Amino acid sequence: MKVIRAKSAGFCWGVERAIKIARQYSDSGARRVYSDGPLIHNRQMMEKLEAEGIREVGDYQSRGELSLSSDGVLVVRAHGISPERREYLKSLGLEFRDATCPDVGIVAGKIRKMARAGYASIIFGDKDHPEVIGLLGYTEGRGYAVQGREDIDALPELGDKVCMVSQTTMFTDDFASLVEYVRGKYPDLVVFDTICGATRARQSDIEVLLRDGAQAIVVIGGHHSANTRKLAALAERSNLPTFHIETAAEINHDDFKGFDCVGVTAGASTPDFLIDAVCEKLGAL
Ligand code: SF4
Repeated sequence: MKVIRAKSAGFCWGVERAIKIARQYSDSGARRVYSDGPLIHNRQMMEKLEAEGIREVGDYQSRGELSLSSDGVLVVRAHGISPERREYLKSLGLEFRDATCPDVGIVAGKIRKMARAGYASIIFGDKDHPEVIGLLGYTEGRGYAVQGREDIDALPELGDKVCMVSQTTMFTDDFASLVEYVRGKYPDLVVFDTICGATRARQSDIEVLLRDGAQAIVVIGGHHSANTRKLAALAERSNLPTFHIETAAEINHDDFKGFDCVGVTAGASTPDFLIDAVCEKLGAL
C-alpha cells in the first residue's frame, strides 16, 4: 500500500525544546530530573524519557503537592503552568527550569497584559487541559474557558472590556466562528488568534493528504493529546475513514483492505520512532 507521510508529522518546536531542556540535565546522569506532570503528551515518549532519568511527578493537570529531593532539577512542562503553580514550584527549593513552549508563553503574556488593563478573558479551549488551566491563572480571576456557543450564553455579564484568545491547539475555523458569535454580544471584543503555527501546519497538511490521493487517514499520537485528537477529528470531518492510534501495534490489517493509498500524520508530541514504525507496517500491507 502507498503511504503518504504528512510533512508536519511529529514533534513541533515547542516539544523538541522541552525535551532538549530536560535532557541537558539527564545526559550527564549526575542529577535527578523531574517534570511536573507529563513534559509532553505522549506516553511512549515519556517512558523513553523516564528510562533516560527524566521522571514525571505529580498529576496530569499539575495541581497536586510534590515531595522531591532538593538536589534535583524541576522542569516545567511544555503546556505551561499558572503563576501560582510557578510560585509553588519555586518554593520547593530545587533548581527550576521552565520548558513552557514560547508560543504558550505569548498567550499568557497577552492575557496578563489585558487582565491588568481591566479586561475579562475568554479562552476558547478545554477547561480541564493543563494549558488552559495555566492560562486561566493569568486572568486575575476574570477568565472563562469556553468550547461553544452554549458556554458563551452561560457567561455572566462581562462589561465592555472583553478579550478572547484560543488554546494553541484548537481548530482555526471553529475559533473564527466563535469569535463572530462573541462579537455579537461584545462589539468591542479584542481578539488574539493564538492558535500556534505548528497546529495550523498540521491542520492544513490534512488537506494536502486528501489532495494527494489518500483514501484513509492514520493519525498517530496520544489519546490524551489535545492536538492529536483535534487532528483525528479534522480528518474525520473529511469523511475519509480515520484511525487514531498510538503505536503500530494497533494497526488492524482488515481495516485497510481495499485501500491503495493511506495518509499518515501525527500530533505535535509524537516521536519519529513511532511514526516510522507505523509507516513501515502500513507500507508492508
Ligand atoms: S503544539 Fe504549538 S503551542 Fe503546543 S508545544 Fe507545539 S508549538 Fe508549542
